[in-house]
Amino acid sequence: MSTTEVENYPGFPEGVTGPELMERMRQQALRWGAELYEEDVVSVDFSKRPFEIKSEDRTMRANAIILATGATAKRLRIPSEEKFWSKGISACAICDGASPAFAQKELAVVGGGDSACEEAIYLTKYASKVHLLVRGEEMRASKAMRDRVLDSSDVIVHYNTSVEDAAGNAQGFLESLKLVNTKTNESIPEPLKVAGMFYGIGHTPNTKFLDSQLGTDEDGFIIVSDHDKTSTSVEGVFSAGDVHDKEWRQAITAAGSGCQAAISTERYLQMNKLLKEVKMMDTKDAKEEIEAAKKKEAEAPKKKTHEPAIDADNFDIDRQKHQGQYALRKLYHESPRPLVVMYTSPTCGPCKRLKPMLSTVLDEYEKSIHYVEIDIAKDPEIAESAGIMGTPCVQVFKDKARVAVINGVKMKSEYRKILSEQLIESSAA
Ligand code: NDP
Repeated sequence: MSTTEVENYPGFPEGVTGPELMERMRQQALRWGAELYEEDVVSVDFSKRPFEIKSEDRTMRANAIILATGATAKRLRIPSEEKFWSKGISACAICDGASPAFAQKELAVVGGGDSACEEAIYLTKYASKVHLLVRGEEMRASKAMRDRVLDSSDVIVHYNTSVEDAAGNAQGFLESLKLVNTKTNESIPEPLKVAGMFYGIGHTPNTKFLDSQLGTDEDGFIIVSDHDKTSTSVEGVFSAGDVHDKEWRQAITAAGSGCQAAISTERYLQMNKLLKEVKMMDTKDAKEEIEAAKKKEAEAPKKKTHEPAIDADNFDIDRQKHQGQYALRKLYHESPRPLVVMYTSPTCGPCKRLKPMLSTVLDEYEKSIHYVEIDIAKDPEIAESAGIMGTPCVQVFKDKARVAVINGVKMKSEYRKILSEQLIESSAA
């Protein structure tokens, strides 16, 4: 979930953060006997029964499947988008807005829907001013959202405006936008000086891995039956949340859709005599298990995906995983191993997804690679000098030279490939 604060989830009168809500749901699923594997599915085969699901690490078979892969933010695809991607252009204000490079700078958000308005309001926490670039005569966002934007003295709305291209400074970071008046189709002579541009122009469903085995609409959203809003064109395959829902896209509507899909799946399995009961953990046992897991995590820092802040008293170069700028400086200067640095921010949902994944990959290189996690909110000067404009960002260093930069969340194989290449080069040298 990429939303930071969820204010409209029933049962949380004081609001809840997206990552906390996800963690609570995870624990609840475990209590009910779910087994979780955090890895990317690369392909599915719906022509076989049971269905086959392949990830990089395993092949699984299932009598029924619920697809809940969500949707990914769209990009504008202006000519210099790649050049300034993660160097000022971003599709996630929530993940990247806290970057020190944006602090007290003028920023732009593109779009006129609820997402763009939400991003613009969020960015006012960090920016000196936010320009909302709306291509039409008016915003399509809900009245409540529009009003929040229009009531904010920190947001300037530019109607009938679209972005033609971007230009950068000598360091290669975004500096200004070339705008077009969509009414006259003429370029606006004065470039808009901004340090960041964030897209809020809608989403594309994550359905590519399905390889056209299911009915989707022209935008790739899964088509669900009118009758239960969760059955797909393949019997036994169900859909939940944003992967089919273009309209509501709220945590609560996605959760409701997940519940519908689960009930439909249970009915399907029962009707086909495929249902197998999984014993629910006793509430007391579950609580004890969660408490025991928390205690174990606190007592075993070596096994955690991120380590407590390191200083001169507790720095241990033999340990693989570290956290904070002290460890980064020590390892950068003293480690003979390739060094992986992951930049995160506290509000970044994708960071929460990447941490355990990367940790599993790093476990395979326990004695040969060092790792440091830098929270850009805690160590903004480090993030600034590393040119971090978005999280998660993974940088790999060897012999004090930066040899790789990976922005966002990629497949495990991509991290493995880069780390293995560095180790092969090290042993060949
Ligand atoms: P929408 O599809 O609603 O809005 C997309 C916006 O981007 C529109 O203003 C559209 O312009 C603009 N746009 C699209 N393509 C381009 C382009 N190439 N150049 C410039 N502008 C472009 O997407 P959202 O993600 O905002 O919202 C999707 C759904 O999620 C909605 O139902 C919304 O209510 C919900 N939502 C609710 C939130 C909340 O209540 N907290 C928060 C976020 C989303 P145009 O209008 O001209 O087509």
